Amino acid sequence: MANRSVEPIHIVGGGLAGSEAAWQLAERGHDVVIHEMRGVRGTEAHKTDRLAELVCSNTFKSTETTNAHGLLKAEMRLLGSVILAAADEARVPGGSALTVDRDVFSSGVHERVTSHPRITVVREEVTALPNPGIIATGPLTSDALATAIRERLGIAGLAFYDAIAPIVSAESIDENVVFRASRYGKETMSDAGDDGAYLNCPFTREQYEAFIDALIAADQFHGHEFDEVPYFEGCMPAEEMAKRGRETLRFGPMKPVGLRDPRTGREAHAIVQLRMEDRAGQMWNIVGFQTRLRIPEQQRVFRMIPGLENAEFLRFGSIHRNSYINSPATLSPHLSLRDGPTTLFAGQLTGVEGYTESTATGLLAGINLSRMLHGASPELPPPTTMLGALYRYMREADPAHFQPMNANFGLVDELPLRVKDKRVKREKIAERALSEMAQWRDAHGLALAER
Ligand SMILES: Cc1cc2nc3c(=O)[nH]c(=O)nc-3n(C[C@H](O)[C@H](O)[C@H](O)COP(=O)(O)OP(=O)(O)OC[C@H]3O[C@@H](n4cnc5c(N)ncnc54)[C@H](O)[C@@H]3O)c2cc1C
Repeated sequence: MANRSVEPIHIVGGGLAGSEAAWQLAERGHDVVIHEMRGVRGTEAHKTDRLAELVCSNTFKSTETTNAHGLLKAEMRLLGSVILAAADEARVPGGSALTVDRDVFSSGVHERVTSHPRITVVREEVTALPNPGIIATGPLTSDALATAIRERLGIAGLAFYDAIAPIVSAESIDENVVFRASRYGKETMSDAGDDGAYLNCPFTREQYEAFIDALIAADQFHGHEFDEVPYFEGCMPAEEMAKRGRETLRFGPMKPVGLRDPRTGREAHAIVQLRMEDRAGQMWNIVGFQTRLRIPEQQRVFRMIPGLENAEFLRFGSIHRNSYINSPATLSPHLSLRDGPTTLFAGQLTGVEGYTESTATGLLAGINLSRMLHGASPELPPPTTMLGALYRYMREADPAHFQPMNANFGLVDELPLRVKDKRVKREKIAERALSEMAQWRDAHGLALAER
């Protein structure tokens, strides 16, 4: 295919997503300019001016395809990810995780990308949306560009703070303990059925007191310095509420009023509500439980919630500064402006969470922008794949509750036949995902030539 674009493509942000997107475009015959502000202007988290710097941990998580992150990586390898190739070369022992020497890794990406004959890197802060182009400026997007994005998408289009409650899998919730109901029987979701939209976890007084004790005593994550900002009421961590007074949660997210347990006909002492996170009902959000507890503490304390004793956490709670777009409310399915299909967004800014997820959206943005510049339509992998399922989430999630999402099996289409054994089930989902990703790639001629 000949490159129809004569002007170079502009990519804003030389992080994980921007570097991957640039590579995908350049390898498909396009001239690309990456605009990266580090070097002339820093962020609160980055320490170098190298492309694809890892801002915190040095792991891309599991490589096993029975793990959601492992499956996503295997899919990205089918599409020729440069970030994963550099990660492989920088690998250090980390068990089944793809753990890297961060300096070797970002130097490797930097070297590959900057020595590509079709890629130029310019050091500057961009303050307007490019076309054709990809905005991949991450959770620490500079203020001036964030303002430009908000002006274009509308005030509700860009969030600045990320207060995330944990999500648990449906199959790990004890149905004998929880009951379904909406407060005062009032329904707000059209397809919730007669019993109500929420699953309710009822507490006795003793259970509540023990839970509050555990919550107050649990070990918290102390964030980066720039994260030490005062909480605003809408995203107060559950443990902070508990510290304000033993009854605070019972008058807040744990209030039992209007929720009668149909088995007893009575209200419980306190309630934790679970809200459906996806249309298939595979993922349930613990309502109001945004938290800064460390991950092992989240597992320990939140498994004290009646009905969640064996909870499988698909996403853990967190609170940190993060700019992200309300993608289901404002972007097209391939994550572009709705009235500007060749101005795409990628990376953490789109509402995915994590190194691998951010890179994966950069990869697909590069592929789709290349397709459009060659006169073809953008394409998305099917929701039987982890990448396709993440894109479905960003397209179909409820805009009123949209929060960043990491790769997890709750997003992916169920198998047509029920498989009881969890490991076997995941093996089959992974097998189907990889086969369908390869088919999708070949059907659209997306394989990159071997280097
Ligand atoms: C403090 C912190 C810790 C994190 N820790 C982890 C972790 O341990 N594991 C994990 O999986 N995820 C983590 N994340 C989440 C996320 O995966 C990473 O932020 C990831 O780097 C996102 O990739 P990205 O390409 O979207 O953005 P980035 O890698 O941040 O890249 C964006 C780039 O855009 C540049 N930029 C911003 N504004 C402009 C502008 N106006 N003009 C030009 N350039 C601009 C920035 O300098 C940056 O280089 C963390 C996030 C933060 C903020």
